Amino acid sequence: MKTVNKEVKISGQGIHSGLPVNLVIKPSDKPGIFFRRVDMAGTDLIAAVYDNVGETKMRNTTVGMTDGAHVQTVEHLMAALFMAGVDSAIVEIDGVETPILDGSAAQFYDAIVAAVDADKSKMKRIVVKREVTAHAAEILKQLPWFVRIQLWIMNKIAGRKSNGFVKLSPNDGKSLDIKATLIYPEKIIGNQSYEYSFDGTKKSVDVFRKDVARARTFGKYSEWEYLKKRGMGRGANESNVIALNDAGDGTLNELIWADEFVRHKIIDAIGDMFTSGGMVCGNLESYKGSHAMNNLVLKKLFSNPDNYDII
Ligand SMILES: [Zn+2]
Repeated sequence: MKTVNKEVKISGQGIHSGLPVNLVIKPSDKPGIFFRRVDMAGTDLIAAVYDNVGETKMRNTTVGMTDGAHVQTVEHLMAALFMAGVDSAIVEIDGVETPILDGSAAQFYDAIVAAVDADKSKMKRIVVKREVTAHAAEILKQLPWFVRIQLWIMNKIAGRKSNGFVKLSPNDGKSLDIKATLIYPEKIIGNQSYEYSFDGTKKSVDVFRKDVARARTFGKYSEWEYLKKRGMGRGANESNVIALNDAGDGTLNELIWADEFVRHKIIDAIGDMFTSGGMVCGNLESYKGSHAMNNLVLKKLFSNPDNYDII
């Protein structure tokens, strides 16, 4: 178990609310990552675990009760905590969502890693023993009809098909090997794949910081207009989201890498897998994956003790 050795303060703006938000990561002696909504008096700690993930709001991961205290867009912060080796902390936050910062995990990671002792303490390992898969179609079926219609419209606008899946399968049990694939009708994204392996060594952390951490979230400009009308994406701008032009053949801001889009999916996958409470050891294949599928695959993994070992 590892916590931060001092408070880590991070401020910014929520991507959906557009409101300023402050968070403080505090040392803790309790295993697990917990959020506390300091703007909501008397609410309980919110555990950042897969079975406490609420409505995934199409584009982010939310922990807590949908109609009570909850925190949205935890995935980039969770990825940064995981990569810094922090599996015990209380995150106090004065708003409903974490600050988007530059849309990546780099600023979170740098702030957290500066407050972590370089010891060899290891995280709990969840070793995948049997293959489990979450399909996009299963997610659609679970949604209320009005959300299904919203999604259908958004997919129609974006020209997307929902045949994606997220699969966990056994490997040698010592690393989290992620392969992400994106297939978009927009030429600027097209068909992109990226692989990243985390085995707990400093080398694999350095690769994350260099090749993955800075990859930003993305969206289509016309899709933002749709989201903004529905009270989402209000804080999205060119400093924190890669904006695809309407023709789909370019971006309004400059890309760090041509495949920055799929590299960002690696961050999302790492953050979501950390809601397992430890390091998932196995192959994670994300084919047109989503936060909802990442969550469902963990629920399936933990639904049967024969599917995994905890070390
Ligand atoms: Zn993301």
